[in-house]
Amino acid sequence: MNIPVGVSARHVHLSQQDLETLFGPGAGLHPKKELSQPGQFASEETVDLQGPRGTIEKVRILGPVRPKTQVEISKTDAVKLGVDAPVRESGDIQGSAGLLLIGPQGHIELQTGVIVAARHVHFSEEDARTFGVHNGDELDLQVQGERGLIFNHVVARVNKAYKLDFHIDTDEANAAGLHTGDEVEIVEVHDLHADEDFRGNEEKRDISTPVAAERQAVVK
Ligand SMILES: [Zn+2]
Repeated sequence: MNIPVGVSARHVHLSQQDLETLFGPGAGLHPKKELSQPGQFASEETVDLQGPRGTIEKVRILGPVRPKTQVEISKTDAVKLGVDAPVRESGDIQGSAGLLLIGPQGHIELQTGVIVAARHVHFSEEDARTFGVHNGDELDLQVQGERGLIFNHVVARVNKAYKLDFHIDTDEANAAGLHTGDEVEIVEVHDLHADEDFRGNEEKRDISTPVAAERQAVVK
């Protein structure tokens, strides 16, 4: 049984307030392409990211808007921008890096919210049962091929609204020779929460929050 790969290009999630600061009062996002996770989309809108060492232009904004603004970049991007972005699960932004976001109508000096997303697999509840995983487990995933390797510390995320997908960033994809639509295989499930009251909390993870970050499976 294999898991499809979704490669996430750098992207930005915006709060409504920050969206209006960057694009003007009353601004909304205009869907350009649906993403693999239901309800999530790449928007027509982009922003520029400016760090102390460099700028990356036209970074895609993903919708819908979120409670908090979050920027997800690769380690290579972080070097180019000159920011020290930590590897984090989506939504865990405390003490993360900052950046200047530049839009057509304004800019935002983001103090925190810039992360390198921790690699993860989205499972529906049914998929989770099929694969024998629980929310919060860590997985080892085997990649075949010329640059084959095993990804460790892959976080399992379970929610009834999710669609099976292994999300990695462009650095990870390039290092392993992977593209969106390729497949990987679970070789080990580490049940980190077997003795804790953690199971069954899947329902409490509201996918409208940044915890369920969605990425660009298509737009690279
Ligand atoms: Zn994801």
